[in-house]
Amino acid sequence: MNEYDSNRILDLTKKINYTLTDNLSETDCYILNTCHIREKATDKVYHDIGRLKKVFRNKLKPIVLVAGCVAQAEGEILLKKEKYIDAVIGPQSYHLINDTIVELEKKSKSINLTEFDVIEKFDSLNSLKNSGSKISAFLTIQEGCDKFCKFCVVPYTRGAEFSRSLKELISEASQLVENGAKEIILLGQNVNAYNFEKKRLSDLILEISKIKNLKRIRYTTSHPTDFTKDLIEAHKNCEKLMPLIHLPVQSGSNKILQEMNRKHSVEEYLKVIEKIKKMKPNIEFSSDFIIGYPGETYEDFQKTIELMNNVKFINSYSFIYSARPGTPAYHLTSINHDDAKKRLADFQDTAERIKTKYRNNLINKISTVLFENKTKNENKYFGRDEYFNSVIVESKINLIGKIKNIKILDINQNTLFGEITSNFNQNNYAA
Ligand code: SAH
Ligand code: SF4
Repeated sequence: MNEYDSNRILDLTKKINYTLTDNLSETDCYILNTCHIREKATDKVYHDIGRLKKVFRNKLKPIVLVAGCVAQAEGEILLKKEKYIDAVIGPQSYHLINDTIVELEKKSKSINLTEFDVIEKFDSLNSLKNSGSKISAFLTIQEGCDKFCKFCVVPYTRGAEFSRSLKELISEASQLVENGAKEIILLGQNVNAYNFEKKRLSDLILEISKIKNLKRIRYTTSHPTDFTKDLIEAHKNCEKLMPLIHLPVQSGSNKILQEMNRKHSVEEYLKVIEKIKKMKPNIEFSSDFIIGYPGETYEDFQKTIELMNNVKFINSYSFIYSARPGTPAYHLTSINHDDAKKRLADFQDTAERIKTKYRNNLINKISTVLFENKTKNENKYFGRDEYFNSVIVESKINLIGKIKNIKILDINQNTLFGEITSNFNQNNYAA
């Protein structure tokens, strides 16, 4: 979402004649867009500003803005501690960025913009063409969260759930496709809680899928309790919807899930997966896990490993619990850090073993790949298969924006390598 936001900030600032530069020492306005989901985010801000200061040691300083969730959560502290920062702008105040820059050009004092003005923000962004021109483009459809998991900063930094209107989303999606996008990834902290005047995520997907030159649709991140029947049916009815669902579970222990306030049990989570698989057996899942949540015993942890072995997620993101200031879990007693580290390593071993087995099975099978760009090596192209696996293929013809059947020949930890094949046989299709 920060990548989407950064691109929109760029679209906005073009209006006051700013353009993107790769050259740090030439920058007139430096915008640091930040994430606050795990610790060290604030340290990174100070570190980054320190680097900037060095570059500008003997020069007039640029305008320095800190945007995003760190600005939202710790804006006042940042402005007090680091005088080099001119303004902090929370995620719901981006529409005010141009006025802020113009004001700072006139050398006024530091500015703190951390109101939750999400309606105004999208109102002003809607009037602005999205200039994104990637083959696979992000589109934020929903922001914020009303779930209040005890460990999570999102409800405090991004605010309450807000869904953008169907009309403005179809218009922005069409713009992206006109600019060349073949795939759109619909984004939200709770993307499947999307609800605009009773229109749900499934309605939006079906509408967007009517855009002619759009080939693929994905969405992330879903919450298990919002996985309604209509969305499951959309996977059956909409061919453009890709068969990988990212469905964070966080823990395999009901005790921990309850303490986290996740609002679902392991059994309920598995039921959702079962229903989806029943409707469309080729769907695979990826997930997020928090290891070492306060109160997690070795037995609780073993249940997380069991869940991993049971579902066989083809990809997973796992992190040691990080206490976030301002969240209800912040004052809970942490578990021993060495234990948590050991558990994370064990968990990641299991996850990696499952992933490698899955990937080994893809060798000699056919994957359907949408190519996004050329790699640094001249004749090699990077793309993703339907399950979001990275694939690299050598080709003399330009593959960017094309979908091809690829025979997978080799794998490494992160990438599949293959060759274009015309020999498409349903029996060796990688599903
Ligand atoms: N809305 C999504 C998750 C959004 S946050 C959901 O509910 O599933 C993205 C991921 O960051 C989470 O799934 C979680 O695994 C991780 N995360 C969030 N807060 C964290 C914390 N305090 N410590 C460690 N990981 C955290
Ligand atoms: Fe955070 Fe996701 Fe829980 Fe919302 S549902 S509070 S975004 S982890």
